[in-house]
Amino acid sequence: MAKKLLLLLITLTSLTVHGQVILIDPGHGGEDCGASTVLDKKQKICEKDIALTISQRIQKKLSPHFKVYLTRSIDRDLSLHDRARQADLVKADVFISVHINSSAHVRSHGFETFYLNNHQNAAVKRIEEIENRDSTGEMTIVDKILTDLVIERTAPRSKRLAELIHSEISTRVQKPFKINDRGVKPALFFVLALTKRPAILLEAGFISNDKEVHKVLAEDFQEAYADGVVKGLIEYFKQAPPPPLF
Ligand SMILES: [Zn+2]
Repeated sequence: MAKKLLLLLITLTSLTVHGQVILIDPGHGGEDCGASTVLDKKQKICEKDIALTISQRIQKKLSPHFKVYLTRSIDRDLSLHDRARQADLVKADVFISVHINSSAHVRSHGFETFYLNNHQNAAVKRIEEIENRDSTGEMTIVDKILTDLVIERTAPRSKRLAELIHSEISTRVQKPFKINDRGVKPALFFVLALTKRPAILLEAGFISNDKEVHKVLAEDFQEAYADGVVKGLIEYFKQAPPPPLF
């Protein structure tokens, strides 16, 4: 009995709020629908709405463990700079941007996870073109210099965060939902660079794939996906907190 009580105590302790701060960023919003599709020739589905729903599920599941914020909790416009600024405001330890993928190749399918780093992958460059679009225009030279500095400081941590979260997502969705694991990849997403902290960008599935869009919209998929993100974050913070990066 005493052993059981001790086990329960250990479990409860490991589940309490540790003081780490997570900022979840539902991609797009307001005028910016993100990628879109039309279901059954009538209903327009926008990436911004799916991203918000998944982000809210993640937030709800994370709340017992960490301090959690959303960059937007409603459908509204938000620049990449504003999203990043919020990371400073709430002093986020990590930043997670949530998106739904799209491709001109309607057969493209699966989920993938990105962390900030340089690369030469042409397919990833196409996704960057979509996700880096911002109402405030082109990246400035200052932002480009900042990107290199942030990569140098954060890439190992962001990569580890991406791998832990991706692997937990994969366990929960790949087989149960027959969804393709496209892996963990480096990418140059400005929103990740601007946050100046360990940050990843999730692409939960393809809105442009007729079959997959139904999976991505389903509550059971979204719940399983959110569970993966939460477990990955708990694993990430299990290790002693590393020294500040800046
Ligand atoms: Zn997006």
